Amino acid sequence: MKHCSFFEQVDKYVNDAAIHMNINEGILNQIKQNNAIVHLCFPIKKDNGEVEIIEAWRAQHSHHRSPCKGGIRFAPISDEDEVKALAALMSYKCAIVDVPFGGGKGAVKIDPKNYSESELQRIVRRLTFELYQKNFIGPGIDVPAPDYGTSSKEMAWIADTFHSLSNDLNSAASVTGKPVTQGGIRGRTEATGLGVAYALREFFKSENYLKNYKIKSGLKDKTIALQGFGNVGYYSALFLSKFGAKVVAISEFEGMISNPEGLDIEELKKYRDESGSLEGYKNGSFTSDRDGIFSFECDVLIPAALESQIHTENMKDIKTKVIAEAANGPVTYDASKWLFKNNVIIIPDVYLNAGGVTVSYFEWIKNLSHIRFGRMEYRHNQKNVQNVTNLLAQKSGIKLTEDEINNVYEEADEKNLVHSGLEETMIRSLHQIVELCESKDYEIDLRTAAFINAIEKIELSYVEGGIFP
Ligand code: NAD
Repeated sequence: MKHCSFFEQVDKYVNDAAIHMNINEGILNQIKQNNAIVHLCFPIKKDNGEVEIIEAWRAQHSHHRSPCKGGIRFAPISDEDEVKALAALMSYKCAIVDVPFGGGKGAVKIDPKNYSESELQRIVRRLTFELYQKNFIGPGIDVPAPDYGTSSKEMAWIADTFHSLSNDLNSAASVTGKPVTQGGIRGRTEATGLGVAYALREFFKSENYLKNYKIKSGLKDKTIALQGFGNVGYYSALFLSKFGAKVVAISEFEGMISNPEGLDIEELKKYRDESGSLEGYKNGSFTSDRDGIFSFECDVLIPAALESQIHTENMKDIKTKVIAEAANGPVTYDASKWLFKNNVIIIPDVYLNAGGVTVSYFEWIKNLSHIRFGRMEYRHNQKNVQNVTNLLAQKSGIKLTEDEINNVYEEADEKNLVHSGLEETMIRSLHQIVELCESKDYEIDLRTAAFINAIEKIELSYVEGGIFP
């Protein structure tokens, strides 16, 4: 069988969706193109005085909306094809959740574990300089965010470097996922995982859809097995268990930990942060067979590490009815098709992990408007609630206690507003995708429906916005 690259696989998903659409071929070809990419090689000085050449890429898949948006990852196995594929997924993802960005993605080909903090900082600052020089970063041009192997720390270095180069009043909007003290937004760190949890909770309410697969509705007590206990994996597990699901197995580089009664996610995270491994955690059994996660019996399998984890060689081992793609591209094209034919539901990455970019959008708006969400209305809302409760007491003698008021009234602080915007986005987009499947008598999978939804929206921006001559 011919090897199909990651970018070609994304293309195939688009072609599969286009079969069900009446779309102009030229526009479809434009939608599929990767518009621009830079390949960078730059030197950094290591702590021991040696000079090392660092390789990096930034792809801008589409410019139908500005700026381009997408994470920057640090991974030793990155290459140009992967970056293009991930940038393409960002174009479709942003369209699905109605976030007005084009798709972008970046990668630095390093294993961050092999570099000191100061070496990493030199890499990030030089990368930002290179991107700035080539006009590949800026609040209206291209806005990176955290991804695999990067976090708010690297985003703060990007923002600081961009600001010192550009002196732009809006420089904070040149990157998202920053620490709150550096112009970040409350709720961004957990956004992708929380989005996964909102999406799954809503998905398990889709009774008609689930009936087709003979799956009982409701997230409560559903068993979850999860690959990758990083940012996305940890927060997905944390919120899913808060919402009543049971996370029964988690795998990481060193192996897999399981407990049929459900793992205590916060305790496990603390344990791994302190010890550096899942091994030895007392409330679960450990095996060094990390890939055992793929054959683990569970209701939902969540790959939250990297792409191409479920493929034609291990797809037949899968013992779940639902795969929730928290990572980007964790199931290969061929495996995806086979699993659909064999009644395994895949909740696709282009929708499921869009919580990160949704909250990045909120952060970008916050940076451009230079005001924290909720600042203007916070006290005003509190006063209104007080007025209503006073009136109730005056007219009917009903006096609400402070606890009762707090139970029904949620403060309009930034985090609550961000979570509420994220929840609404994940729910609304899921309904659009599920309804599309229903309208096609369930003959297409959720991924094809998600791509149709995205392509329709991007097509409209070309048709109504026009194409430059
Ligand atoms: P991360 O670096 O925080 O965590 C990834 C974890 O996966 C790490 O702990 C790593 O040790 C583990 N891992 C790697 N290979 C593994 C393997 N073979 N078995 C078990 N564990 C393994 O990265 P992240 O930000 O959580 O990103 C994970 C995925 O989610 C990526 O595909 C990324 O593109 C995608 N994603 C991330 C975000 C975000 O906001 N961070 C948003 C959308 C999509």
